[in-house]
Amino acid sequence: MTQTLSKFADTNDSDRPIGAPDGLGVVRPVVLGATGQLSGEPEVRVAGAHDQPQSMCPAFGALRVALRMRRTASVLVGSACCVYGLTFTSHFYGARRSVGYVPFDSETLVTGKLFEDVREAAYQLADPERYDALVIINLCVPSASGVPLRLLPESINGVRIIGIDIPGFGVPTHAEAKDVLAAAMLRRARQEAEQGPVQAPRGGRATRPTVALIGEMFPVDPVTLGMLLEPLGLAAGPVLPTREWRELYGALAGVAAAAIHPQYTGVCNEFAVAGRPVVGSAPVGYEGTAAWLEGIAAACGVSAANLDAAKNRWLPATRQALAGAPIKGRITLSGYEGSELLVGRVLVESGADLRYVGTACGRTPWSQQDCEWLQSKGVRVQYRATLEQDLDAMAEFAPDLVIGTTPVVQKAKEAATPALYFTNLISARPLIGPAGAGSLAQVINAALASRPRFDAMDAFFGAAHGLPVALGTVRAATGKGA
Ligand code: SF4
Repeated sequence: MTQTLSKFADTNDSDRPIGAPDGLGVVRPVVLGATGQLSGEPEVRVAGAHDQPQSMCPAFGALRVALRMRRTASVLVGSACCVYGLTFTSHFYGARRSVGYVPFDSETLVTGKLFEDVREAAYQLADPERYDALVIINLCVPSASGVPLRLLPESINGVRIIGIDIPGFGVPTHAEAKDVLAAAMLRRARQEAEQGPVQAPRGGRATRPTVALIGEMFPVDPVTLGMLLEPLGLAAGPVLPTREWRELYGALAGVAAAAIHPQYTGVCNEFAVAGRPVVGSAPVGYEGTAAWLEGIAAACGVSAANLDAAKNRWLPATRQALAGAPIKGRITLSGYEGSELLVGRVLVESGADLRYVGTACGRTPWSQQDCEWLQSKGVRVQYRATLEQDLDAMAEFAPDLVIGTTPVVQKAKEAATPALYFTNLISARPLIGPAGAGSLAQVINAALASRPRFDAMDAFFGAAHGLPVALGTVRAATGKGA
């Protein structure tokens, strides 16, 4: 089965396509307006050793995207210690795939032999029986040395060769590295679709117009998004990053794209080049859901009657879910996944006294609405937040609960403040629609309720460290003791 895509806008006429990474893996900065038109001053990604948020090696994001795709092989080019760390982390997160590695030494690096070794590895791996695509990732040293992956063949034996640079000094977070690879793949798929018929989606074409969903979400969220779109006469399209090459064509064949996670600027630019409008923010909480439904309806030309039907179906249910799962307590929140502002919105609508949202990701047009909404509620929003800024917020606001990255959580616990790790405990839960409201409240209220345990531990370990805490205090705090 094949399908043909049509009406793609002309690609940009510069040397490097919009959203394409340059030699350092830095996406060409372009701001898209609400209609998907290119406009305004660019958002420049901060690239510099002294301006970086403190997060994991960014290449992990791109590697994870590649490892989750069917019929896709991954090869790393970089220092052995980096590759060891990346493969370890990948397998810790359940990747059941081999990761290829092209080693180098000073001589192969400076003589250009490393590029020849990469090329040879690509030819050895490019088996069309096994793979649709081969992803080759330059890590810091080969990126800095200019190993020219762009000179690799576009395809070998029909296997697409996708070479990208993901240096730690050029791509600030792993969340944005996912975008670099996803955008590179979408660009190739768009170019293929412009040439002629391409593979149809595995499950056949959708019967209703679809909206592509951008961002790695909890599995139930795309299902909820599909249910929200249904009364609008629309359906959920593929989720990007995709799990299969042919889904890229399906994503481009939709009528619009929803930038649920706002850091995918390269992907959004590809949709814009393909003439597809992109809608920012997400249906989180009551007001977020109302605004998102309106944004989608405007972008897709949905009738006022269908928009009203969608609002009538989903807004009361969302309000009910929020009212049924209130959160009481002062909270600071930070993370590096890109969804921090969305989580903040749900917390505020659930009744939490949220004071601070820090995200390691940069400001993009797709989270602007969320930023303004949070600020209008008195929440401080910090893009490109550093560990120091997150810790300062914790000290300033003395929260009942800290949601943060590993070092922030560690500091909070040292200060006997209940804390939750954003990546594992918050971003890995439903967030969208009525399901998101109830789900977040459950874990957050459990953490808030753990305060007496922290007080007891503080009393005990304070004593252990020589602080004068009477045994009676420990007994009183714990309710235990002889
Ligand atoms: S950021 Fe660069 S040096 Fe650090 S682990 Fe990643 S590739 Fe290696």
